[in-house]
Amino acid sequence: MLDLQELDLNLDQVAHKRGVLPELAALTELAREKSAVDRELVTAETEVSDLQREQKKADSDVEQVKTRRTRDQERLDGGRVGSPKELESLQHEIGSLDRRIADLEDAELDVMERLESAEARLAGLRSRADDFAGRQAELESSRDAAAKDLDEQRASLTERRTAVATELPADLVTTYAKLRERMGGIGAGELVGKRCMGCRMELNPADLSRMAAADKNTVLRCEECGRILVRTDKSAV
Ligand SMILES: [Zn+2]
Repeated sequence: MLDLQELDLNLDQVAHKRGVLPELAALTELAREKSAVDRELVTAETEVSDLQREQKKADSDVEQVKTRRTRDQERLDGGRVGSPKELESLQHEIGSLDRRIADLEDAELDVMERLESAEARLAGLRSRADDFAGRQAELESSRDAAAKDLDEQRASLTERRTAVATELPADLVTTYAKLRERMGGIGAGELVGKRCMGCRMELNPADLSRMAAADKNTVLRCEECGRILVRTDKSAV
């Protein structure tokens, strides 16, 4: 009976360990972090593609003004400008195009810098996402190994439990199982001295002397907790 109780407690422990594997908590935490990084990835990808578009636009703005500046310069160099007034106006335009080009090139540089830092951020997030995949695989394989080990322990304990239970009277095993279910996993306690190890209470002398008189095969119950009380060589009676 006590062997059965011990095997059942071992089985309870194995089942508990199986349910609270540290890898399970770590995987949950990892999934939470991963989904936060995934959200940041979407934002960073959008930012990069917006800035790429902005950069193309800035490039073409510069290009457009430069083309016009080149055309003006060619007219100036070609000596086809007739009047001094026309010459003055052309030189004036070239001056303002130069300023415009400088402004646009500043803007272009600014977009490039922002794009570079957005790309760096995106690369960092992608590498974090890759790390997650690696860590997840490691945790899963460690979880599977631990679960396999516990499953093997459970199988071997179950086998021994079956062997032990078969040797006991079926109705006793049923009573024990009901008590165990109701009383926190312990259905039978050893009588050590005058104490029931199920509830840790000492039995009163009247009950003890009644138990001492009982036949060895009589199933005793603790008067305090109701659990099956098992007499051994450690018992006072
Ligand atoms: Zn008791």
